[in-house]
Formats: sequence, C-alpha cells, structure tokens
Amino acid sequence: MAKRDYYEVLGVPKTAGADEIKSSYRRLARQYHPDVAKEDPKGAEAKFKEISEAYEVLADEQKRRNYDQRGFDAVQNDFGPGGFTWQNFTHQGDLEDLLGSNPLFQQLFGSFVGGSAGRSGRGSDVEVAVRLPLVAAVEGAQPTLEVPLTGPCPDCQGTGAKDGTAIEVCPECGGVGQVRRARTRGYTQFVTVGPCPTCRGTGRKILEKCPTCRGNGRRRTVEHIEIKVPPGMEEGSVLRIPGHGGQGLDSERAGDLFVQVMFEASDHIRREGTEAYTEATVPLAIPLLGGVTTVRTIEGHAELKIPAGTQPETQFRMRGLGFPRFRGSSRGDLVVTVHVELPRSLSGREKEQLREALGADGATSTGRKESFFHRRS
Ligand SMILES: [Zn+2]
Ligand SMILES: [Zn+2]
Repeated sequence: MAKRDYYEVLGVPKTAGADEIKSSYRRLARQYHPDVAKEDPKGAEAKFKEISEAYEVLADEQKRRNYDQRGFDAVQNDFGPGGFTWQNFTHQGDLEDLLGSNPLFQQLFGSFVGGSAGRSGRGSDVEVAVRLPLVAAVEGAQPTLEVPLTGPCPDCQGTGAKDGTAIEVCPECGGVGQVRRARTRGYTQFVTVGPCPTCRGTGRKILEKCPTCRGNGRRRTVEHIEIKVPPGMEEGSVLRIPGHGGQGLDSERAGDLFVQVMFEASDHIRREGTEAYTEATVPLAIPLLGGVTTVRTIEGHAELKIPAGTQPETQFRMRGLGFPRFRGSSRGDLVVTVHVELPRSLSGREKEQLREALGADGATSTGRKESFFHRRS
C-alpha cells in the first residue's frame, strides 16, 4: 500500500485542531472497527492501522510539527526501521470505550494492554546506535555494543509472582482483564468497558510478589554483543541483527536488534556517496616545477604527483581511494583540491632571480606591471 499523507488518511485539513483530528480518528475507527467491517476484516485491520499511524503522529504536537516540516522522513525515527507497529501506538486510551471489548483490539494492543513487553509472544525489538571512526566505512568493523535489554525475570518466569506460583485468577474480572461499568442517566444506561482496576488488565492477581523483580515480571540487563559492520555502510543506515533484541515472556523467540551506524566526523575528509574529498596545500615550487606531495587519505596517507604548471585550486582524482560500495568490491575516488601557498618573504637576490625568470625584470612602474599581465593573456 502506497503511503498516503496523514491528513488525507484522517480526512482533515492541514489546519485542523486537536479536537477535529481526534473526532475524525474516532469516526474512522468506528468505521474500520473489525466488528463492524466483517466483510473484509483483513482490509479493515490494515485501514485501522493506517489511521492509527496517522493519528499517532498528528495527535502529538511535536511529531506533527516534524511531519509538517519534513514529511515521512521525520517520523521514521520514532517508529524504528520497520515502520509503524502497534507497539508505537500510545493513544489507545482515546479508543478504549469504543473498542475495549473487542477481541481483535485486545490482540492488536496485546503487548501493552497486559503492560509487559513480550506478552504478544515475541520479544521486543531494540534499537541502539554506534559511532565508528570513518575508516570503518572502508574497512568495516566489529564493535562490541552495550545493549540494554528487557527480558522475563528468570525467578518467576515473567509472572511477577513469587516462584511463578503465588498467583491466582483475578476475582474481580474472572481473568478476562476487562470490567463493564454501567451508569444510568434518566432512561439511558451507559455501559463502558475498561481494563480491570484490580489486576490492571492482566486477569491475574499476584498473592506474593517475586522479590527479584518486585512483581513486574521483567528484568533489565545489559548485554555485550559483538556485531559485524560490513564495509561501505552509509551514514545513518541500519543493520538488523535477528534474535538479539528483548526476550519474549512466553516464547523462546527474542526480538531483533537494530543498530544504526554513524561515523565520527573527519577534519580532513568529506564524504559524498562513494567519493571522498580532501584538500592539500603545497608550496609554490611544487606546482611551478612539478613534484610530489603527501595527501591525507581515509586510511592514512598517499603520495600525489603534481605536474609542473598546475594551477591553484586544481582538483586531482586519486582512483580507488574513496569509499567502497556497500557489499561491493569497487571503491570511489579521492578528489584532492590543491591550494598553493606563496612564499611570504624573499631575499633581494631571490626577487632578482624571479624577476629574471618570470620576465618581470626591472618592473618598477604600474605601466610595466600591466604589460606583464598583458603578455600572459
Ligand atoms: Zn481483574
Ligand atoms: Zn520475578
């Protein structure tokens, strides 16, 4: 499905206020509520997800501003590399009264209705960033990352109850995790369905808390994971390392680890795709007479031959000293701009010799200088 503009998805103008956005979202949610859209539940679910993604962005002042300025690029970071998932949705409260009793809703929001990572049967995805020296873009690297992970507490198997057994079915909701509340006003009865206040939607009542995790069923750890960064990675691109995210509570399948790769800024190399750019300053004698100068490259140094008669600011291309293509063998070029440094002081004898050599002998008046320039052009 091609990505549609969020305002278009919610059917509101760009100038819409928060109330208008919310009521439009609720109207659409009622329409694509999987109970109503029985004919095409798959399509409805996709639609429901699309409007929820749009709402997640437009209902948040900061996210909305970023999106207005930079479009989908701006929200990509918020949602992680895989795009919007129900894990990213934070406004379920705005729909609870509409959809609280819907089993599909429960399934969609399962991971946070229960309040625990991994209750959906799979561990959570984890995103970290790593900053490497620029040379790693050429040679690759194998950094060891510190990854903060959340997994089930080993002492209570993630239940939060002592030994995993000091637990019973919630007496208030009978294990459903939801309660209905009826309120009568005049002849009308209002029924709302919301998470059970006693068990906060888990459907279980802990008799004695697990001392290790103090009842929340999760344990935070920091794992050291060595990863392989291949040569040729672009600034900001993301590596996916399957199975190294958080552990699931009820299953052995862990989430994935996503590593955003960035490079330290270099004071002498500028990167543009596979091309590298640098500069070199040489004394006048080299471009005048020809010679060799040492150029700083991505990995170290290289010798650059400068032929006699080279003009200032000339660019030289050093083949194969740029950045490699991702997973490719060929490399771009290093483009060197040569600046020429003129001597700051000359002795009288040197001046004389130069005048003679450059044909500016005895030039004392502006008239003679002009003729020197005329002769060049
Ligand atoms: Zn309960
Ligand atoms: Zn525990």
